[in-house]
Amino acid sequence: MVDAQLSRISVIGTGYLGATHAACIADLGFDVLGLDVDQAKVDSLSAGRIPFYEPGLEEVLNRNLAAGRLRFTSDYTEVAEFADVHFLCVGTPQRSDSNAADLSFVEAAIESLAPHLTRPAVVIGKSTVPVGTATRVADRLHAAAPAGTDVELGWSPEFLREGFGVEDTLRPNRIVIGTESTRVEAVMREISAPQIEQGIPFLVTDLQTAELVKVSANAFLATKISFINAMAEVSEAAGADVMKLAKALSYDDRIGGKFLGPGLGFGGGCLPKDIRAFMARADELGVEPALSFLREVDAINQRRRARTIDIARGLIGGGFADRTVGVLGAAFKPNSDDIRDSPALDVASTIASQGARVTVYDPEALERAKEAHPELNYAHSMLEAVRDADVVLMLTEWAEFRDADPDELAKVVAQCNIVDGRNALDAVEWRAHNWTYRALGRP
Ligand code: NAD
Repeated sequence: MVDAQLSRISVIGTGYLGATHAACIADLGFDVLGLDVDQAKVDSLSAGRIPFYEPGLEEVLNRNLAAGRLRFTSDYTEVAEFADVHFLCVGTPQRSDSNAADLSFVEAAIESLAPHLTRPAVVIGKSTVPVGTATRVADRLHAAAPAGTDVELGWSPEFLREGFGVEDTLRPNRIVIGTESTRVEAVMREISAPQIEQGIPFLVTDLQTAELVKVSANAFLATKISFINAMAEVSEAAGADVMKLAKALSYDDRIGGKFLGPGLGFGGGCLPKDIRAFMARADELGVEPALSFLREVDAINQRRRARTIDIARGLIGGGFADRTVGVLGAAFKPNSDDIRDSPALDVASTIASQGARVTVYDPEALERAKEAHPELNYAHSMLEAVRDADVVLMLTEWAEFRDADPDELAKVVAQCNIVDGRNALDAVEWRAHNWTYRALGRP
């Protein structure tokens, strides 16, 4: 625990990243005030309810609300008066008119905060931004703050994984701070003291390198996933088994097994938009060829969705018109209710547009899915989703689906056809129970 008098901290933007960061920083003993422009989010968090699914986070939130270390507001004057350090955690989604990142939320947050700053402050960006953004944000911050205000900016990219948010915030692989300022570095070291004591690497870089660490890490991870999915494409054509291939590759410790799972590919609120924004930025910097491979990484990823649909269509012998399809999974990955660029919902929606009656079940993401895809039907259980189905598609590998009993499902479907979009089911077992089992990249 730290001395709570050392620093009072604000967290601006309390979505997946900000809410987790605010609760975890409070848990380290700091006084934290979270701010969001979405009043419903502020009300929900103030009442101890996380407005999204993140295992373990609600407990941390409530513990710190009860201890009086954590509050939420929508008032920028209040955070400017309260905090010595402001973490910037607003969204940076893909722009609707291009591949570039939409930085309007970052800019709006700075414009809202800066004029109210009346005491020395440090602003630390955590949002994922294109390289070069932080320098511009620093200029805007200084221009919009009252004359003579002592305010400095650093950028500390965030690497947390949804579903492991608490663990990743409290025990990250590394902490990176981009800054030229010894004061910003000192503040960040003070806040990160519990992690530094655990031996977690603490790296100080310039602003540009810190921004690049995040997007290049995501570019690498996306590339690794698309690499094995490219091998799945080749395996399908050659009659090889990509699962056995991936396993054999994984024993090479220069390669490793993580992010080497062949399947439907990546989605969510980070990897797809981050690699596209990275390409757009490389273009602006005049080094477009350096990242042209990411175009193929993106294309391979999209092709897996089309391939999954083709396999399902093949199983039912023709078109989807008037057929019944059960889809297991809506979240972009298990242990999350995030449906941003979800491969499962993309596949479900495309199949529905081809005339099928598609029913989706997900343990946590149903409400969000219903809002985003009203054209689909939704069920409250796995069995209800697959009732009368001509084909079942397992598209998000929740434990509940991995553990599904093939006999129980067989009792309610119209035909025992299953597409394992995540290579997560036991092919031998499903076939032994008379299912026609198909998976990506395997015979
Ligand atoms: P999110 O959409 O869940 O949250 C963003 C929040 O910012 C929303 O609650 C929104 O209401 C709020 N906001 C928007 N404009 C605001 C403003 N002007 N002032 C105050 N609040 C404002 O997004 P997220 O997933 O939390 O991502 C936030 C950033 O963190 C992005 O840059 C993302 O790439 C990055 N990131 C996310 C993750 C993740 O796992 N979600 C991991 C690492 C990095």
